[in-house]
Amino acid sequence: MPVAVLPVDEPSRLEALRGLEILDTDPEGAYDDIVKLAASLCETPIALISLVDERRQWFKAAHGLESRETPRAFAFCAHAILTPIEPLIVRNAEQDSRFADNPLVTGDPNIRFYAGIPLVTKTDRQPIGTLCVISDESRELSEGQLKALTVLANHAEKLLHLREATKELLKQQSALRDRDHELARLGRLALAGELVAEVSHEMGQPLYAISALGGTLEVMNQQRAWEFGRTSVLLSKLQEACGNAGKILTRLRQFVRKVSPESETCDMNEIIASTIEFLDFQCRRNQVEIQLSLASSPLSIYANSTHIQQVIVNLLINAFEAMDEFGASDRMVTVTSRLEGDSVVVEVSDSGPGLSVSDEVAFTAFKTTKVDGLGMGLSICSRILESHSGNISVSSHPGQGATFRFELPKAG
Ligand code: ADP
Repeated sequence: MPVAVLPVDEPSRLEALRGLEILDTDPEGAYDDIVKLAASLCETPIALISLVDERRQWFKAAHGLESRETPRAFAFCAHAILTPIEPLIVRNAEQDSRFADNPLVTGDPNIRFYAGIPLVTKTDRQPIGTLCVISDESRELSEGQLKALTVLANHAEKLLHLREATKELLKQQSALRDRDHELARLGRLALAGELVAEVSHEMGQPLYAISALGGTLEVMNQQRAWEFGRTSVLLSKLQEACGNAGKILTRLRQFVRKVSPESETCDMNEIIASTIEFLDFQCRRNQVEIQLSLASSPLSIYANSTHIQQVIVNLLINAFEAMDEFGASDRMVTVTSRLEGDSVVVEVSDSGPGLSVSDEVAFTAFKTTKVDGLGMGLSICSRILESHSGNISVSSHPGQGATFRFELPKAG
């Protein structure tokens, strides 16, 4: 039995088939209907949508046949895909040298008649299988039946093209999501850069304590002046100082880590609280006290909490910077959260000078009024919120500070 030769560009054909991720999937009504109709219109006991992979033909839909696949070596469809633009019609397989001793002809299902229309992918025009009708009696198709089979094959092909388009769309969406994640991370790295001065200052305190305690322990050691109670107090202080230094670094590392957690249901109030804890040293350095006016019950949102934390960090750092020129007693920041209908609303207000540029400019990438600013912060905030189906806006009056307000859909 001569086995069908391989199509011209078999590796690309197999890649196109694999790209559809259709092999071994569950039956689907739309494909099943096509084979039922093909069998009925062509008056054959068997109709198949067959896809030919490396070693087998696998049936996405099968009418009148129990098995879901047969070896490629026996597949009539492996021959049909060699001529993608025309049907393969075998009137009597017993009298066709290509198929006469084929086990599917000499044995079950005793194929005599076969008509297969190749199915071709949209993007690469690769023949990946066929819509075929099969009978155990040698026969012909009428002109009308061949037309009907061709129309049905077009429908099957359209379903496959739709699948191709959906896969491509999902791929593009995922690439966009990856790009947004990367952009957000670059934004966090930039924010972390702004925090470095404060972090190193903050680290100074535990490091000084560690060094001083180590020195004391060293002197005690040299003088062999070990005293159980005092040593243990010094050691636990040393441990505490190390813990404090570690906490500062851990928070910063978590903030800039490459893979931020996926979206999940979380409480906006908790995100606000942890953000303020994260910026604690920054507040102390800037001598700003943050007034909190949070909703009394949890505010559930479905979000990537690191990204939302990033938005709040951005707004707070902008507020701190805006009030830099003011005396400590005039520096005030208020963070409020509440439920408004189906939205969770957060406002960050400051007592700074207000915006010196239009709202539109403030949210435009690379627009900044700061000497060392990047002008990326607010545009990234806006993208993060949009990707969470939310939005951000600002109201500001010269000399009366600025209020940034963002909202997200409440979860559940
Ligand atoms: P950057 O902070 O690098 O300038 P942003 O996108 O975060 O980038 O901010 C853009 C601009 O919006 C700032 O340069 C500043 O002019 C203005 N802005 C942002 N927040 C405030 C605020 N709280 N008060 C006054 N102006 C602000």
